[in-house]
Amino acid sequence: MSTSKQILVLGGAGYIGSHTIDLLERSGYSIIVLDNLYSGHKKSLSKNIQFEKNDISKNNLSDISDKYGEISGIIHFASFIEVGESMKDPYKYISNNIDRSTDVMEFMKNRGIRNIVFSSSAAVYGKDYKDKLKESYIKKPINVYGYTKSVVEDLLSFYDEIYGIKSISLRYFNASGASHFKNIGEDHPNETHLIPLIIKTALGLREKIMIYGDDYNTPDGTCIRDYIHVDDLAQAHLLSLEHLINGGDSDVFNLGGSRGYSVKEIIETTQNITNLHVNKEITQRREGDPDILIADYSKIQKKLKWEPKYEVDDIIQTAFNWHKNNPDGFN
Ligand code: UDP
Repeated sequence: MSTSKQILVLGGAGYIGSHTIDLLERSGYSIIVLDNLYSGHKKSLSKNIQFEKNDISKNNLSDISDKYGEISGIIHFASFIEVGESMKDPYKYISNNIDRSTDVMEFMKNRGIRNIVFSSSAAVYGKDYKDKLKESYIKKPINVYGYTKSVVEDLLSFYDEIYGIKSISLRYFNASGASHFKNIGEDHPNETHLIPLIIKTALGLREKIMIYGDDYNTPDGTCIRDYIHVDDLAQAHLLSLEHLINGGDSDVFNLGGSRGYSVKEIIETTQNITNLHVNKEITQRREGDPDILIADYSKIQKKLKWEPKYEVDDIIQTAFNWHKNNPDGFN
């Protein structure tokens, strides 16, 4: 067995997981991944990763613990992530995102594992707030996806209170871009996210981008989001993990860049950066979309010294390079 600290990464073969694991490997950690490959790609991980293809359950987690020995921390990425789908098939989200996470907490309690970094979301805030979002704002999710993330955050707080399990919940704003260090990027089956869809349209891999509503309460009528580079997210996971391993307390942090771009602005920026035309069409709103979501990231900046390094141009450029060089993703 290796002498470096072992980290169990749930859902590690996905987009944010694979970028975080690359950074953890470069930082000297030994990684075990549990992923059912529902949406992840084994090819996104290096050969040194100890990989278990399976679902999350108390039994499967116990088997991993028996096989690999001491686990210093868990990073839990595994979840369904589509806002629109969560409003069409809520049970799918409740049973996977909440129930599987309670299995993780019980496993940690049973095996004395103290530290977990949890993938939460800006979707916990809902649509009532007009200014930059602070972690102290009361959560009011308006879609089932955001609700599942909010519930798991709350349960993690109880598992700290009752059993002393320490957690950092990271509320991602719009994860985007592709690695500066390795040939990995965003490849979801049935892609629904804005930036990859725009880039695929620019590259001629799709006919057009549908803009979900231009009657929102924003300057150009399209939704405003805070896009954050996946390498910046990876860095925040490393800092959070080390905070917990060093005995730090539980916390909740926003991960965004404190800058908002509308859907139309992202399309225009992509056209400018790539010199390619993006066909677009306005269609009706997607259910569950707030007008504006922008992070105030001053809390994690202060407590963990995290700063986003990459601007939106870099996000679009790295994503463009990845899609251009990998038109079939990891296939
Ligand atoms: N969006 C859009 N067309 C698309 C995909 C997304 O207009 O084909 C909009 C979506 O309504 C939201 C923003 O782009 O306002 C970002 O959506 P995405 O699904 O990328 O991330 P989310 O904000 O849901 O996490």
